[in-house]
Amino acid sequence: MKRIQGWGSVETDYPVPEPARKYLESVVGKPGVQKNITLEELLNKVQASRLPDHPLITTDPKERLGHARGQSLNDWIDMLDGLIDSFPDGVAYPATDEDVRDLIRLAEEHQINLVPYGGGSSVVGHLTPPKEGPPTLSVDLAKMNQLLDLDEENLEATLGAGVRGPDLEAQLEKHGYILGHFPQSWEYSTLGGWIVTRSVGQQSYHYGRIEPLFVTGHMETPSGPIDLPHVPRSAAGPDLRHILLGSEARLGILTKARMRIRRLPEEEHFYSAFFPNFNAGFEAMREIAQAELPLSMLRLSDPLETETNLQLAGKQSLVNIAKKGLSLFGHRDQRCMMIYGLTGHPAINKLADRQLAHYVRKHQGMVVKFYIGKTWEKSRFHTPYLRNTLWDLGYALDTLETALPWQKVKTCQESILKDIRYGLEDVNEPVFVFSHISHVYANGGSLYISYLYRRSKDPQQTLANWRRLKGLASQRIVEYEGTISHQHGVGLDHKPYLAPEKGPLGMHMIENIIKDVDPKGIMNREKLIDIN
Ligand SMILES: Cc1cc2nc3c(=O)[nH]c(=O)nc-3n(C[C@H](O)[C@H](O)[C@H](O)COP(=O)(O)OP(=O)(O)OC[C@H]3O[C@@H](n4cnc5c(N)ncnc54)[C@H](O)[C@@H]3O)c2cc1C
Repeated sequence: MKRIQGWGSVETDYPVPEPARKYLESVVGKPGVQKNITLEELLNKVQASRLPDHPLITTDPKERLGHARGQSLNDWIDMLDGLIDSFPDGVAYPATDEDVRDLIRLAEEHQINLVPYGGGSSVVGHLTPPKEGPPTLSVDLAKMNQLLDLDEENLEATLGAGVRGPDLEAQLEKHGYILGHFPQSWEYSTLGGWIVTRSVGQQSYHYGRIEPLFVTGHMETPSGPIDLPHVPRSAAGPDLRHILLGSEARLGILTKARMRIRRLPEEEHFYSAFFPNFNAGFEAMREIAQAELPLSMLRLSDPLETETNLQLAGKQSLVNIAKKGLSLFGHRDQRCMMIYGLTGHPAINKLADRQLAHYVRKHQGMVVKFYIGKTWEKSRFHTPYLRNTLWDLGYALDTLETALPWQKVKTCQESILKDIRYGLEDVNEPVFVFSHISHVYANGGSLYISYLYRRSKDPQQTLANWRRLKGLASQRIVEYEGTISHQHGVGLDHKPYLAPEKGPLGMHMIENIIKDVDPKGIMNREKLIDIN
């Protein structure tokens, strides 16, 4: 069963290992608060529904609470510290396109704001119902989760947009196929959510990001249904797929998507490499990306993230042996860890592995094939559970990301790390911050930053601290002309920073497409851009 307060399944826990807990205390101090608002207290806050009766809609308070927020830190403060002040007025579970059309008609007739709900894993405020204005109906696509067509000749599959990652892969695997889209939220996030937020999977290096995987789809919009053409490629004007990709529910509800699939890979391995410092690892990474080695993933942690990952890796005796071994080769407190993946045919993997080792050696690194890559693989979807236990211990954790050309990645990274590390100095709060580079391209890479600080006794202060850090980092990204989001989307949290990236004409074009398709303004109001 899915947690209403926090991340993931209630059956899964990730206790913080004792050495890691002590390490954290030594860096940010002993936390003071551990108490959360109870579910009962939260339920008491749910206001009366303003929706008309409808057979597809439930107004059950627990359902409404369960669809009220996503997973941004702002959402967590609302759901666990009790600052929440807006709820969907009801939840609908359509099973067919006709159901969806019915809900759109109802929304137009009664001026209802529709917020499609996939897995609820948004980390940028995509799902928050506006506090003011018309009632909100959450439209949960969970029933639209089937494999509808498997086209083995063209290696394509059509699936319901509400299908979650594990369910999607299980339906394809039965026939010997894989989509291969594995965001870290894979357990809960859905196909429709991935497409409209332009998400990126951990092995996008091999399988591709969501854009090339999305062949065509069906969206129900307030102006009628739209079916994209089904062709391998087209030069017939602007590509409408790219208008639906990243549309963040402002245009309509995607009900099904036809995706590019692959045959199951013959083999898969995850290994690690270590470098004496970040600069060495960074240069190796850039050269590997530009050599276009057929890897399935590549990520490089900075020294602090490397140390944190080693602390969390579990078997401390093995990790200590690894650390001692690395010290002998001059890799000490500035050491950086790279994780790489090999997916596909054994002969190609062998060649890629050999070529990668060449670049690693060239930059004073060494490949370590035992334990660490396997540990990463085992915990790849488990790590987010740590956020639950850290929160209960009294720590608030958040992440942010951007992408930039190679020559800006390191300077932007250094600036943001500094901004965040010292961002709460005036309220005497140390912040623990670390980063990695992943999703590399020939012309740049994406920077992923995680940070943690102590929750305050006053939730408003925890929120103010988050706003400060998020604002500092976002402004820095704008200053460096990076993208405000490489993979998480815009939602509410990144909305103020979209205009510098798109420019006035770009913003005008986006606004007018939305106005044209949704003239009455019933789709996910206030997200992505403000409509005048
Ligand atoms: C622990 C964790 C790890 C994450 N890791 C990654 C990662 O590795 N890569 C990455 O890209 N992102 C990641 N994310 C962010 C998030 O998982 C993605 O943005 C994901 O694509 C959201 O999918 P969802 O189904 O959960 O959508 P939701 O959160 O339910 O919705 C997101 C937005 O999409 C809209 N929407 C959903 N379904 C539809 C539909 N069928 N039609 C129209 N609109 C729809 C919603 O209205 C909302 O605006 C992570 C999040 C968490 C919490």
